[in-house]
Amino acid sequence: MDYLSRQEQFQRTFRGERLDAFVVTHAANLRYLCGYTGSNGLLLVVGDRRTFFTDGRYSEQARQEVRGARVVIAKGSLLSEAVKRMPADRPLRLGFEADFTTVAAAGVMRNAVPKKVAVRATSGLVMRQRMIKDEDELRLIRMAVVLGAGVFEKALPSIHPGIPETEVAGDLEYEARQAGADGMSFETIVASGPRSALPHGRASAEPIPQRGFVVVDSGVILRGYCSDMTRTVHMGGVGRKERKWYEAVLEAQLAGIAAVKPGKKAAEVDKAARQVLRRAGLDRYFTHSTGHGVGLEIHEPPRLGKGQPEELQAGMVITIEPGIYVPGRGGIRIEDMVLVTANGCEVLTSVNKELVEI
Ligand code: ZN
Ligand code: ZN
Repeated sequence: MDYLSRQEQFQRTFRGERLDAFVVTHAANLRYLCGYTGSNGLLLVVGDRRTFFTDGRYSEQARQEVRGARVVIAKGSLLSEAVKRMPADRPLRLGFEADFTTVAAAGVMRNAVPKKVAVRATSGLVMRQRMIKDEDELRLIRMAVVLGAGVFEKALPSIHPGIPETEVAGDLEYEARQAGADGMSFETIVASGPRSALPHGRASAEPIPQRGFVVVDSGVILRGYCSDMTRTVHMGGVGRKERKWYEAVLEAQLAGIAAVKPGKKAAEVDKAARQVLRRAGLDRYFTHSTGHGVGLEIHEPPRLGKGQPEELQAGMVITIEPGIYVPGRGGIRIEDMVLVTANGCEVLTSVNKELVEI
């Protein structure tokens, strides 16, 4: 990982925002900027001087992991230790991450800093940089996607009528850990029969029915990076109407993928998928956005929803996941991870999307 160039790029970014110094506290941002994977860390950047603070529990880990910053083990709070190291003799504009700082912590910071330090709330500065994945990140994301797809395919045969949804989720999660995943990137969704109409139906004790859709949405974390995929299978013979629904969702998903290109607005991709479902008379059942960014966190910008002005750029990794949820009947979602490339996109998830009947 080229932490140094990430740090330098971030320094240019905050200087561009007319800031002289910055406090980073969000765990995923710390990992991205300096490699630290523990909790309770703080990175203070003043100009181009970087100091990383943590407490005694992480002293060894911080020394092993942190790159490009001096490590200081704080006795008390990390913030008060950091404040001691801020220059007091000159005016300084200090940014912090408003999205990840409590009102109380911001108050403490404002009171604790030297008189000449002006504290300013900022939003999304590291995240904007993280939206564009570098080569090292893409390598890890590809590995996570392959692992996630592999465990789905391994767990697929365990889906049969009568076994609880939790058992399917359990099989999948066991396979993931056996295959070397750090963990799951979110609670595995196994939603069957009428429960498949719950877009976020966590696996329950409900048995897989003889007939009906089963939505399986799962993701693994591999060396910090998340994968995310959804497939929907059908138990028993599928009716004509249900097959039509499935075909419409698949067509919407392919239309979403076809719309992914640098320069396209996130909203346009959402619209492309939504239009297909509108023509099929199903758009009222499509109740969420078409996708989201994925990386160190499972939900990252950009969000691919209605009215989202963000322009896609090469190096973004996003999901395309339209779905429909018909109350009392069932639901269907198909989700792939997609890399935005210079000319269009590359679908990273390579698992069959034709309807599987079990
Ligand atoms: Zn998902
Ligand atoms: Zn997703």
